[in-house]
Amino acid sequence: MTPDLMEEGARRVAAHQAVAAPGKTESGGRAAGFARPVLPGEVDVTHGRILYLEDVCVSFDGFRAINKLSLDIAPGELRCIIGPNGAGKTTMMDIITGKTRPDSGTVFFGSTIDLLRYKEAEIAQLGIGRKFQKPTVFEQLSVFENLELALKTDKGVKASMFFRLDSADSDRLADVLRTIHLADSVDRPAGELSHGQKQWLEIGMLLMQDPKLLLLDEPVAGMTDEETARTAELFLTLKGHHSLMVVEHDMSFIKTISEKVTVLHEGSVLAEGTLEEVQADERVIEVYLGR
Ligand code: ADP
Ligand code: MG
Repeated sequence: MTPDLMEEGARRVAAHQAVAAPGKTESGGRAAGFARPVLPGEVDVTHGRILYLEDVCVSFDGFRAINKLSLDIAPGELRCIIGPNGAGKTTMMDIITGKTRPDSGTVFFGSTIDLLRYKEAEIAQLGIGRKFQKPTVFEQLSVFENLELALKTDKGVKASMFFRLDSADSDRLADVLRTIHLADSVDRPAGELSHGQKQWLEIGMLLMQDPKLLLLDEPVAGMTDEETARTAELFLTLKGHHSLMVVEHDMSFIKTISEKVTVLHEGSVLAEGTLEEVQADERVIEVYLGR
């Protein structure tokens, strides 16, 4: 996406947030106020949602890992997902990204793109980026080369054979380097980076493709306190320009970044609200936070 589109996106998010009551993205919170034509390749968020799941179910060998899961995310929102191990958090991301097919239910990107009709690679192309738990950067390549490679992947194999960074790409790369705090390490091999820096580099590689929605699975696991704090800053910077879904167990991290928190348990939503609200919820205390 070009910077002016990004700006336009940010304006729409601001408009959305002004119109829709915070936290009201269920059908009652529909913001119908900004009817503008949706351009090809753009995600239609005129109904106030970038992601919409309804009644999604998936079983593995008769075990219901996801059970009537319904949830939606507003454009530009930073949503935190918490829940005990085995709650279905990673499986939910597998379903959104096309890695796992649900047995039933609805999964929409914006109000027009039925994600269940697309394959994993196509979903990435549509603008959903995913960060897995372990960093998967190319250790022998430099920070720069890793970011450059992320662009090439985006352009497809054929184009990448004749690939040269144009000035817009160079600008984007410089922007991303600053955003992920790695401008000083641009020529270092990724293998020399700390665990936290590798995680940031991988996030940077996703950002090179300018995803509309970013899914991040336990991004601060194994990070030092300082790296965790910087990651919180990074996510707060990304919010508004991108929509983020962040799965984490680190409550102080969640506290720093969260607006709305969804608690998953046994494959469905147990509670949703501010961190304070869900932390005070008896059922959440029972199954997750402990007494
Ligand atoms: P979380 O990320 O919340 O810890 P997961 O989504 O990884 O939970 O797992 C939810 C449940 O589904 C677990 O009981 C897990 O063992 C099971 N599960 C996940 N993926 C598979 C699979 N491919 N085959 C069989 N069982 C699976
Ligand atoms: Mg998981």
